[in-house]
Amino acid sequence: YILNETTTEIMSKLGEGAVGTVYKIRHIPTGKLMAIKSVDVYPDETNHRQLLRELSFLKYCNSPYIVKFYGARFVNNEDGQSIYMYMEYCDAGSLDTIYKKIDSMNGRIGEGVLGKVAESVLNGLVYLHKNKIIHRDIKPSNILVTGSGQIKLCDLGVSGELVDSIAQTFVGTSYYMAPERIQGAGYAVTSDVWSLGLSLLEIALNRFPFPPEGAPRLTIIELLDYIVRVPIPSLPESQFSSEIINFIDIW
Ligand code: ADP
Ligand code: MG
Repeated sequence: YILNETTTEIMSKLGEGAVGTVYKIRHIPTGKLMAIKSVDVYPDETNHRQLLRELSFLKYCNSPYIVKFYGARFVNNEDGQSIYMYMEYCDAGSLDTIYKKIDSMNGRIGEGVLGKVAESVLNGLVYLHKNKIIHRDIKPSNILVTGSGQIKLCDLGVSGELVDSIAQTFVGTSYYMAPERIQGAGYAVTSDVWSLGLSLLEIALNRFPFPPEGAPRLTIIELLDYIVRVPIPSLPESQFSSEIINFIDIW
C-alpha cells in the first residue's frame, strides 16, 4: 500500500490515549479500512532513520495474534513533528471499551471468553518473545478484537527509540507495570505476564483490581506504591471457577 494523505481518507476517531490519537481511515484505491495512530515526537533529525528502521521490523511481524502493521511516516505540524503509524483496523474495538459496554448492561465477560483472551495474548507474547521483542504495554486497551472474534495485541513497544522520542513526560508509567518495573528494574518477558494477569482480572471484574473495592482513592504514586506492597488480588471464589482463579494466581 502507498500510504499518505492523498491515498487515504479519515472516517472517524477511534480513541485517544496518553500519547496519541487513533483514527479509522480508508485506503482509497483498495477501499481497505485501516487504523492510523499519530504520536507527537521530538523533532530530532538524527533519530529519524533509526526510528524508521526499528519500526520497519514491525512490518515483518506476521502472526494472527498481532495487529498487522502497514507502515509509518513522519509529518511536520505547527508544534513539531508527529509519526503516523498505519495498522490493521479491528472493528470490535479494544477489550476495555468492550467490558465497559458489557458492564453498563450489568453483564460480565464469561470465563470461556476470558480463556480465549488469555490464549490469544499468550500466543502473541510467545511469537514476540521468539522474535526477541517485549511488548511493554499489555493492557485491555491494547488488546483488540476483530469482527470475526480474533483477539490481537497492538502497540508493541518494539522501538526504544520511539519510547525515547515521545514528547511526553509520563510515558511508560502505567498502572499495569509489574512491581519490579515500578521499582525501576529493567523490562523482562515476565513483566508482560504480570500485565496480562492484571488485564484478565480487570476484564473479569469489570474494574481495575487495585485498590480493593471501597478503599479510598489514591494518587498515582500512592497506587503504584500500593501495587508493589500488597499481595496480588484474586478473583472471588463465589463467582469464578477454581480453574480461572488458579490460572491467575500463579502468575
Ligand atoms: P490507549 O491504548 O492508551 O487507550 P491509544 O492511543 O493506543 O491509547 O488508543 C486509543 C483507542 O483507540 C484504544 O483504546 C482503542 O479502543 C482504539 N484503537 C487503537 N488501535 C485500534 C485499531 N487498530 N483498531 C481499532 N481500534 C483501535
Ligand atoms: Mg493503545
